[in-house]
Amino acid sequence: MSAVRIALVLPDLLGTYGDRGNMLVLEQRLRWRDIACESVTVLSSSAAVPESCDVYLLGGGEDVAQTAAMRVLARSPGLQRAAARGAAVLGICGGLQLLGTAFTTGDGVRHEGLGLVDAVTEPGAERAIGEVVADAALPGVGMLTGFENHLGRTRLGAAGRPLGRVSRGTGNGHDRAEGAVRGHVVCTYLHGPILARNPRLADLLLEWAIGAELPRVAEPPELEQLRTSRSRAAK
Ligand code: GLN
Repeated sequence: MSAVRIALVLPDLLGTYGDRGNMLVLEQRLRWRDIACESVTVLSSSAAVPESCDVYLLGGGEDVAQTAAMRVLARSPGLQRAAARGAAVLGICGGLQLLGTAFTTGDGVRHEGLGLVDAVTEPGAERAIGEVVADAALPGVGMLTGFENHLGRTRLGAAGRPLGRVSRGTGNGHDRAEGAVRGHVVCTYLHGPILARNPRLADLLLEWAIGAELPRVAEPPELEQLRTSRSRAAK
């Protein structure tokens, strides 16, 4: 099997609350399975966004940084081309917003998004800040937890499927939806980093990238404990 190629996209603009950790988690989970991996960091000063990677990771960002990232990605469409051939993409918060069809920043300016998911973001009345719990709609992922801090509220269009349903926190801020999914593109408001807190989602992205099931690795006992106590509390 050739090495799995992971692109960390514009961490100099997108990467609040340690979102870069998502790359470290994917690398480690591949290492545990003895699968080779090659990570590429794409900076805003890089000549182009490569289109040959298997997984693309975009973090969150403040409005100005997010808008600058949007310009870079629109100019160099490697990510869009990779997504069109089925590469896995994970966009967090500002990353979610710019993968949608359009987003309006806090200053009222509307920006075109990359349109990889059917989602439109408008500013809310106040920032949504705090812990989030959601039930993922993706097979085998189960409960998702993370931390959110955003002004934008995201409405999914007719072709938009939520990543999950919020039971605590705000998420998209409409219809109790959290995030958006289309094919192998996963968008979410959850920082954490999300893949450290939700290893099942990490493995699903890797399985999409590899095109095969991965052998299980044991989850940390704390996570298992949390899952059990929550399912007991829900009864
Ligand atoms: N700038 C966006 C907002 O406030 C995203 C923030 C973030 O990525 N943390 O809605």
